[in-house]
Amino acid sequence: MCFRPATVAPDKTCPACGATCAGDAPTCSACGADLPQAAMPPMPGAPGAPGAPGAPKPPAAPGMPGAPAKPGAPQPPGSAS
Ligand SMILES: [Zn+2]
Repeated sequence: MCFRPATVAPDKTCPACGATCAGDAPTCSACGADLPQAAMPPMPGAPGAPGAPGAPKPPAAPGMPGAPAKPGAPQPPGSAS
């Protein structure tokens, strides 16, 4: 396991002026606007992360491979109806 100290935070871009600010800065150092909290990317295997065991699967989107064929699609010869 590699635990990163909280002091190491990725830089954030101010949504107001676009300035690059320290990741742990609560406000923009240029214009003073409130900066959004740095969202830590979900780690694989972490609780609630996609793909984690026990995590609820999102509903299948239409058009995904493996979706049922549309009604009226050509059936292969010899297929029993
Ligand atoms: Zn700013």
